[in-house]
Amino acid sequence: SSAPEPGYLSGLNAPQREAVLTTEGPLLVLAGAGTGKTAALTARLAHLVATRRAYPSEILAVTFTNKAAREMKERVGRLIGGAVEGMPWLGTFHAIGAKMLRRHAELVGLQSNFSILDTDDQLRLMKQLIQAEGIDEKRWPARQLAGLIDRWKNRGLTPSEVDAGESEQYAAGKGQALYAAYQARLIALNACDFGDLLLHMLTLLKTDREILAQYQQRFRYIMVDEYQDTNSSQYLWLRLLAQERKNICCVGDDDQSIYSWRGAEVANILRFERDFPGAKIVRLEQNYRSTPHILAAASGVIASNGNRLGKTLWTQEAEGEKVRVLGVWDGPEEARRVGEEIEGLQREGEPLDDIAILVRAQFQTREFEDRFIQIGMPYRIVGGFRFYERAEIRDALAYLRLIAQPADDLAFERIVNVPKRGLGDKAVEKVHRLARAEGVPLLAAAARIIDSDELTPQARRALSGFVTSIGRWRDMASTLPHAELARIMLDESGYTAMLQAERTAEASGRLENLGELARAMEEYESLGAFLEHVSLVMDNEAQAEERKVTIMTIHAAKGLEFGNVFLVGWEEGVFPSQRALDEGGLSALEEERRLAYVAITRARRRCTIIHAANRRIYGQWTSSIPSRFVGELPPDHVEEESSLTGGASLWRSGWADQGNPFQDVARPGHGPGWKRAAQAGQFVADARVPMEARRPTAVSPGAPGRKDLELGLRIFHQKFGYGTIATIEGNKLEIDFDLSGRKRVMDSFVALA
Ligand code: ATP
Ligand code: MG
Repeated sequence: SSAPEPGYLSGLNAPQREAVLTTEGPLLVLAGAGTGKTAALTARLAHLVATRRAYPSEILAVTFTNKAAREMKERVGRLIGGAVEGMPWLGTFHAIGAKMLRRHAELVGLQSNFSILDTDDQLRLMKQLIQAEGIDEKRWPARQLAGLIDRWKNRGLTPSEVDAGESEQYAAGKGQALYAAYQARLIALNACDFGDLLLHMLTLLKTDREILAQYQQRFRYIMVDEYQDTNSSQYLWLRLLAQERKNICCVGDDDQSIYSWRGAEVANILRFERDFPGAKIVRLEQNYRSTPHILAAASGVIASNGNRLGKTLWTQEAEGEKVRVLGVWDGPEEARRVGEEIEGLQREGEPLDDIAILVRAQFQTREFEDRFIQIGMPYRIVGGFRFYERAEIRDALAYLRLIAQPADDLAFERIVNVPKRGLGDKAVEKVHRLARAEGVPLLAAAARIIDSDELTPQARRALSGFVTSIGRWRDMASTLPHAELARIMLDESGYTAMLQAERTAEASGRLENLGELARAMEEYESLGAFLEHVSLVMDNEAQAEERKVTIMTIHAAKGLEFGNVFLVGWEEGVFPSQRALDEGGLSALEEERRLAYVAITRARRRCTIIHAANRRIYGQWTSSIPSRFVGELPPDHVEEESSLTGGASLWRSGWADQGNPFQDVARPGHGPGWKRAAQAGQFVADARVPMEARRPTAVSPGAPGRKDLELGLRIFHQKFGYGTIATIEGNKLEIDFDLSGRKRVMDSFVALA
């Protein structure tokens, strides 16, 4: 005669219930993808609140994304009927860390309104410090050193805790000093970076018994989703908070640890049992997400990894379709095929928001975006910018726009000092002033001002180099294929070198994106046609909210599920990534394999894996080898299909050491972009340039000049002071300055004395 079961329990299987009902003591839920870990954690939260074991404000619950936090809160509300009042401690590590730190900011030398720096601020600060410390920035780029400090923070190390021997190896032996200076500077600025949000709290909890006791009391229950991706700093923070009551429940899957590059440590799973003796371990084995074929395919791939904790997975779902492996000719065909397949799914009534394309690297989204624009398929890019909105792409586009359209002032402003050419704000301001005064575009004003002494010699050299280069590239545009022009421009401008100097994973991602941009250009007849395409793509953003296909990286897809999933670019060098292959170590490769496992297990009903036989890399067709992960798929659960004769069986014979199965296949000729010379001069005006920027572009050497100036008149000039007009030629004057002798200046910088 027991009371009816609460709603949040119904539908849960036995081990899930155990996870929900084991409220006291340490608990680790270790289970494969789609076994309902997140579902169980959510039900557990509902249970704690519904049974009044704790007020919502007494539960610390960590999710991997803000979106996951919102969803969990909503679901808890639904499970216990009625909104949950205030769950202040439900969120990501960063969000919770920030909230806590604001309460105790003074104790670490901050004020409660401290600001949180973004990456750009962080880099700017780092650059100043590198200079102040006299470190060679060429040898030790700011981004690299910022990365180093980040990694120390991820490991929970303050400057004084950094290993001296390790610090020696960085920043000319000044790693630790730089870290200390950086922290001091942040405090002076009343600011934090992301790593600090936890690190400061960690320091505080370690040193202030009262505060530690306060939080240990407050948090009756602690819960963590995606536990396998916590870093050391996060782990230590959790351990301190849980040490008193020991009511901590972590759920995770060692096979889905995909953030070791950001400091995550799978070892935290093993550490848990050691740090919390007597921890209960619950294993969930029934998968509710995917069909048996999909599950078997994923299990088959991950089986090649060593050092796994090992888990059983089974499902009661209907058998469904086998995982499809498609071999296509090249990238454009891949995008075309996916587009067609999605149109087919749409006709069958599949909602677009239940369809996802998962890529290994951001640059891969471009081909799909372009294709979808063309066929009018609504899509959204999740967790990252759409291709043409990324900073490096916008920079490159700004160069191209300025080449095509000298009056494009927005483009000029964006890149006049990118990469850094030693142009100060003052110099740029002067160009602006002249442009305003003379009613000419910025580029034209720049061309005029470099003939004068208005700028410092350094600024003048820099600006003149820039103006000359733009002119030279414009001349090239009439003879060179425009994609080639883009590559030359990126090299000659120093943009490529700037990114190469950073030597970070992020920078190489940006370089990949730029390579992809050049590839995209090859598909258009002229630079103008390409730029017009881009403005149309960017405009697509304005679309009304509707169901859309999702394009995202595998990393961003963690924890999510879709009815239909397309996994594209499964080729050696794309996935596994070239970086993982270059590193050569087993661990990089195993992390790629875990990514493959995460990717496949996002699919509920249909999973299609695609590899192309040819990719265009830096304007060269290269034949590619199907990913080793394709070869690791268990044949019984896979259906092969190829648009290449004989291709399908070839890759089965093994990817390794057997050369490229497609190497005998004739290579396609150069794309149309290569055949046709760029049609310089026929550029389409960029629709996004506001009217005021579209000034006449003609730069006449004899611009009218001011009527009020005459030879022999006394004038005053901001930089050179008083002087007498010696010559007048259009808007250019020669002045005999009282203190600095004869100089050439622009008339708009001169006032009658
Ligand atoms: P991942 O490892 O990818 O994060 P997970 O283990 O967190 O996966 P969930 O996302 O919680 O898995 O659940 C996967 C799917 O299974 C969801 O659609 C969820 O609603 C469903 N599910 C979970 N538990 C049950 C259950 N007991 N009965 C029916 N469906 C369930
Ligand atoms: Mg989950």
